[in-house]
Amino acid sequence: MSPITGATRLAAVIGDPVEHSRSPAIHNAAYAAVDLDWVYVALRVPPGRGGDAVRAMPVLGIRGCNVTMPHKEAAAAACDELSPVATVLGVVNTVVLRADGTVRGDSTDGEGLMRALAEAGLDPSERRVAVLGTGGAARAVVLALGAAGAAVTVVGRRPEACASAAALVPGADARPWADLREVMADVDVVVNATPIGMGADEPGGLPAAGPGQWAVDLVYHPARTPFLAASEQAGAAVVGGLGMLVHQAALAFEQMTGRAAPIEAMRRAAEAVGAA
Ligand code: NAP
Repeated sequence: MSPITGATRLAAVIGDPVEHSRSPAIHNAAYAAVDLDWVYVALRVPPGRGGDAVRAMPVLGIRGCNVTMPHKEAAAAACDELSPVATVLGVVNTVVLRADGTVRGDSTDGEGLMRALAEAGLDPSERRVAVLGTGGAARAVVLALGAAGAAVTVVGRRPEACASAAALVPGADARPWADLREVMADVDVVVNATPIGMGADEPGGLPAAGPGQWAVDLVYHPARTPFLAASEQAGAAVVGGLGMLVHQAALAFEQMTGRAAPIEAMRRAAEAVGAA
């Protein structure tokens, strides 16, 4: 890392909690790899103050912020302009300070997953895809998969949230969690967008995907979730959540700095944090 001077530019992730975020490691590794005099820090912003943090960006000259829980909606509301995807979703995970002092928000999770799938050799166009979960990540992924031409079925526990996620894509289906096995039997790709698999001792878990299917997990810690392990053993192709983490960060890096992202340096940094 370059020594911090008066000319060093600042970027940050805002959230609460935020101390376990991998974003500082990923972005600082990227700055080092392309020799940028930038530094990226984690800022704990209390609930209810996310909008204030975004409005402070032009005042403090913070060039870019990533946004995590619980500020994604408030940050979107505080932006001067939103990307088309962020406008539809009503949330942002990336806010960039522009030269004219205004801030623009975007949601890079969906496109991050699309890049990770492309890297793994999976083109979701005209594939039948089940998305499990109806939270923020699921909604971003449903929208991106729909835009890519996939036939999406959302599977969730809460009927209203499920219908709302499916409504993001014309023709998408909403199915209750009780139908999970039935839905999984009838799709090409299963995307886990719930936290199932993060906890070491949690009961239950997801049924495995099988031969001819893809199992995709958004969970990246552990890198190899029980869902991925069981699906791979059953003959499915698998994609873990780390690729999406790296690519959503790469998209944010590109928007903040205007430079091409050093993907491999960012991936190494993301993996090293997980191994630590
Ligand atoms: P969220 O907004 O809290 O949504 C979680 C969703 O999972 C909700 O629909 C929730 O259902 C459902 N869910 C939780 N436990 C469940 C269970 N036992 N059975 C069935 N459904 C369950 O979280 P999020 O931000 O969308 O994140 C979801 C996961 O994606 C997290 O593990 C996160 O780490 C991961 N993620 C990864 C990346 C990446 O870059 N790889 C990016 C974003 C998120 P209810 O609403 O009914 O509770």
